[in-house]
Amino acid sequence: MPKVFNVQNFSTGDGKGIRTTVFLSGCNLHCPWCHNPECFNSKKEVSTEEIMEKILHDKAYYEMSGGGVTLSGGEPLLRFNECTELMETIKKQDLHISLDTALCVKIPDFDELTSLVDTFLVDLKTMDKEKMEFVIGGNLEQYCANVSELKKRNAEVVFRLPLIPGFNTDDKSIEENAAFINKYGYKASFHPFHRMGSSKYRELGLDYLYKDTPLLTKEEVAAIKAKYFALGVTEAEI
Ligand code: SF4
Repeated sequence: MPKVFNVQNFSTGDGKGIRTTVFLSGCNLHCPWCHNPECFNSKKEVSTEEIMEKILHDKAYYEMSGGGVTLSGGEPLLRFNECTELMETIKKQDLHISLDTALCVKIPDFDELTSLVDTFLVDLKTMDKEKMEFVIGGNLEQYCANVSELKKRNAEVVFRLPLIPGFNTDDKSIEENAAFINKYGYKASFHPFHRMGSSKYRELGLDYLYKDTPLLTKEEVAAIKAKYFALGVTEAEI
């Protein structure tokens, strides 16, 4: 059974249309700005039947809005084996599946993965090997190889760019990220840093390193996006 920390109906920021997002427990990274710290502790197992009941409750909305189901986390690919039954059941209902992933994991079977997922929402945090390794705990080579495997299979991919002040909003980061996006020809969505996870850190008794980090202003976000657009990046409509 999948280990899940939340099943959220009526999500609007996790892919196209109205969606139900299934948040799977656990992550192999440790982004200091993470707004889902509860993913690290929750080990609750939820049956496919129980998750499907929540998913099917909103089926009419998916059809009306072009939405579907998003598997998120944490890192949902860590639980891929636990989720294949769920994904197959979702597919039998003819529902669209998006997978929201940091893509920094070893993937044993890309063919199986791409046969079940319709759209990959792939985080693009940094192209800097040191930052990837020492700030968030990822492996840049593995990430790049995984993106390449998706491209080989013509998978539908949208890059999700978290805009994190002091981490990836400088010109060098923007140029490197844009070059990577353009290499693959995918579109990008932009996700400005927020502190909505602050109360979760307090409840869990954890220190939140970004608790005093100022939010980007609307003008700063617009300026960052304008730099990406000037470098040839196209915004995805999600
Ligand atoms: S990849 Fe996502 S869930 Fe994992 S630590 Fe980073 S922000 Fe949190």
